[in-house]
Amino acid sequence: MDMFYDICVLIKKAGKTVQGRRQTGIMADRMTREQRHICMSHIRGKDTRPELVVRKSLFAAGFRYRLNVRSLPGSPDIVLKKWHTVIFVNGCFWHGHRGCRLFSLPQTNRRFWEDKIDRNIRRDAAVQARLVALGWKIIVIWECELDPARHYAEDGHSRVSRRDITLADLPQRIMDCAAAYENERKTRLEIRKEAKEQRLASECRRKMLAGEIKERYHIPGRIVKESQQETGQEPYEPVG
Ligand SMILES: [Zn+2]
Repeated sequence: MDMFYDICVLIKKAGKTVQGRRQTGIMADRMTREQRHICMSHIRGKDTRPELVVRKSLFAAGFRYRLNVRSLPGSPDIVLKKWHTVIFVNGCFWHGHRGCRLFSLPQTNRRFWEDKIDRNIRRDAAVQARLVALGWKIIVIWECELDPARHYAEDGHSRVSRRDITLADLPQRIMDCAAAYENERKTRLEIRKEAKEQRLASECRRKMLAGEIKERYHIPGRIVKESQQETGQEPYEPVG
């Protein structure tokens, strides 16, 4: 939906000739109500530019992925199955990036937008919890982290943008996710193995005990059978 950006640019340009509403407050909304409405209605959708930037960078780095996988909660934007990682590229406005300069609620219909964004935030959290429960690792990239404006780096010579930094860090973040997944998998396997060993050991103890009891007290077979039926345990074979 690259078109959206063009639309927004057009709307903004058009807005300069239209009498804009002057507002005071935390952040003035420079669009008129109609402009804002058209803009908002086009924001959502697939193939937004920030997502494309991330995809291109991942592909160039050799990562292969699937897009908008509907079978997963929240149909994540990018799914790296091999790395057990999903990536969400979130627009700062829609997903409520608090404290971000791109997140400012329109002055008009403020209550409506607040509720809407709050709902989105809650839904995102629920989706992430479900993905985590399914064993997925999650990376959220905010739109503002893909800002292409270049600033001087600390050395005062090279010019870097937040986008450069975010994209440069991404492969490492993905590999960290995969490593974390692998660690958790190993832990799960160990726990399962331990539980199995404990089960076998206690089964063995039970059989030995049963054998001993049978040998020592000569309990009639009928009573043993009845007791087994009551406890639901398999008939045992005396050990030794
Ligand atoms: Zn942001």
